[in-house]
Amino acid sequence: MRTYLRSYAAKLFAGDLAAFGAPPTDEALAGHIRAEQISLVLGYSVGIMLANACNALVLAVALWQSPDWIFALIWAAAVISAATFFGLQARGSRRVAKPEFVSRRTMYRLVRNALALGATWGIVPVAFFADASSGGQLVITCLCAGMLAGGAFAFATIPIAAIAFTAPIFLGTAICLGRDGDFVYLLMAVLVVVYGAVLLRGVFVNSLEFRRRIIAQHDAERTVRQDPLTHLPNRVAFNETLDGALKRLARSGEEFAVLLLDLDRFKEVNDRFGHPAGDEFLVQVAARLQRCTRAAEHVARIGGDEFALIMSNLTRTEDALAIAEQFVAAFADPFLIDGYEISGATSVGIVLAPRDGNTPHDLLKHVDIALYRAKKSGPGSICFFEADDDKSARDRRALQGDLERAIEADELFLVYQPFLDLRKGRITGFEALLRWQHPVRGLIPPTVFIPIAEESGLIHQLGEWVIRRACTTLSRWPDDIRIAVNVSAVQFQNVGILQTIVQALTEANVSPNRLEIEITESMLISKYGSAPAILNALLELGLTVALDDFGTGFSSLTYLRKLPFSRIKIDQSFIRDMLTQPDCAAIVKSVIALAQDLQIGVVAEGVETAEQLEYLRQTSCDEVQGYLIGRPMSLSEISTLQRSVHAA
Ligand code: C2E
Ligand code: CA
Ligand code: CA
Repeated sequence: MRTYLRSYAAKLFAGDLAAFGAPPTDEALAGHIRAEQISLVLGYSVGIMLANACNALVLAVALWQSPDWIFALIWAAAVISAATFFGLQARGSRRVAKPEFVSRRTMYRLVRNALALGATWGIVPVAFFADASSGGQLVITCLCAGMLAGGAFAFATIPIAAIAFTAPIFLGTAICLGRDGDFVYLLMAVLVVVYGAVLLRGVFVNSLEFRRRIIAQHDAERTVRQDPLTHLPNRVAFNETLDGALKRLARSGEEFAVLLLDLDRFKEVNDRFGHPAGDEFLVQVAARLQRCTRAAEHVARIGGDEFALIMSNLTRTEDALAIAEQFVAAFADPFLIDGYEISGATSVGIVLAPRDGNTPHDLLKHVDIALYRAKKSGPGSICFFEADDDKSARDRRALQGDLERAIEADELFLVYQPFLDLRKGRITGFEALLRWQHPVRGLIPPTVFIPIAEESGLIHQLGEWVIRRACTTLSRWPDDIRIAVNVSAVQFQNVGILQTIVQALTEANVSPNRLEIEITESMLISKYGSAPAILNALLELGLTVALDDFGTGFSSLTYLRKLPFSRIKIDQSFIRDMLTQPDCAAIVKSVIALAQDLQIGVVAEGVETAEQLEYLRQTSCDEVQGYLIGRPMSLSEISTLQRSVHAA
């Protein structure tokens, strides 16, 4: 009972309308409501204090002839000085930005001051009315009525403050009227009670409505700042936090870090398990990430699978790294979704302000670049921004511009690397590999410009060019030679690729079974849902399809069973190490056996030594490719070679 009373009183004097039956709120919202209430009162304060001073002066003049004039003068002087003091204080605090949260203690102080001011006015009818002239009495009556109305108005959103202010004036009036049995006074008392009731009722209705409006506004603002799926702050909220951090940096030099996370393999989860599972995955990720942060900091979801954190008041760089490591570690255990165990990972980019920038634009650009490098280093990587990154990003942009002109400028060409059939002992085909002769930078490897082409969408144009050029070459070569072209995942986003292939084959008058498409596993599990459909269409057209870089991705075997590939290409990393590392040898052997089981071809990539070739021959690999057999060659090199073979 005691604690109940205490908490009720705490609520009551903190201006909380829950004390009068309104639905309760949490303390954060209550503090926000208090801030709004107080800011409203502060808005009126200067005027009200001026009115107080003015009223006190009028009263002193009205009581000039009264026997209590000395006391009235002292009283008025006290009120005028207090009103001036509080008025100036209120004016000063109005200049400070409105706070988001106001403590209960501040509200207690306000209620206490209201009571003190009310009591000051409550003294007036008790002390001065009886001995005043009839003119003086009229002034006192007017003043009391005015102060009652003014007080109710000033505290119209805080009933307890309105009560604290008006109650002493009511009390004073009651004492004054009750002392004299005059019938006119009785009538006045009735009037005062009616006024009081009307005023207080008005205050209650108004404050409930005010509170309802503030809560609705608060809810609306929260929705604007919250991600509906994970309930984390969204990009809007993140930008505001970033702005706030930058302001604190400018004001007090408080350093901070921005961490940007991008989930690895999220698209795969979405594609394999469906969108509801993808959503559930994000919700679980959000919960795990939130658990890694300090209480006052919130991870925000700023994009589909992008999360970000602003770590304010950063004293040591290692703290940012420690949190990033916790984020990465949060993915150690798989996520349980719909009975499946789904594993995930995240890469993290980090920038430090002001070291890496002091504007939102610079910081976000640089953290993006850091994240890009982290993603390139593989799942679970963490990278700080480095000034060199910015340079490499600029380089990439410059190269992209050059690449746009490269096709027209005839700077691209294909080289061809042979496949050797081990049983037949002859060359059965070539893989077409793209080269770019840059006018200034010289020969640029495809590992540099293909990713740029993929990111910028130029790959569609480039890929079309490769296919057309390969078909033209095929038309000049013997019928039993095939050409394999590499196709990027991005190209399968565009169903137009089918038409390009059919057109190129028809125009060059080449049989479809001589063109092979090399794709990597990653594109089957990538975001392009149309990949399997396009693959099947290609196979129906009679093309062959090879699975490139086999073994470097994951869950390869499932795809082999689902999609009718014509060939598997064992990645060069296994061939390089198979003679020294037993596990690589085991993989090579079992992939060859698997291909034979599935009755599809198998090629070993990157054969560089005679020992490797011999080993592959013994394990009955179908075809080999590598520097030992032939480096990628230009068309003219190939025809010279052919001529010398014929001559021999
Ligand atoms: P990839 O498809 O795995 O191509 C094989 C890469 O291994 C080629 O590098 C080739 O020159 C190299 N290579 C061949 N034999 C050996 C060997 O014995 N030892 C070693 N160490 N390397 C060998 P390249 O030409 O630099 O191509 C790199 C990658 O660029 C290719 O990997 C492919 O993914 C991509 N690429 C090349 N041309 C195209 C293209 O026209 N379109 C697309 N989308 N990607 C292409
Ligand atoms: Ca390839
Ligand atoms: Ca390969």
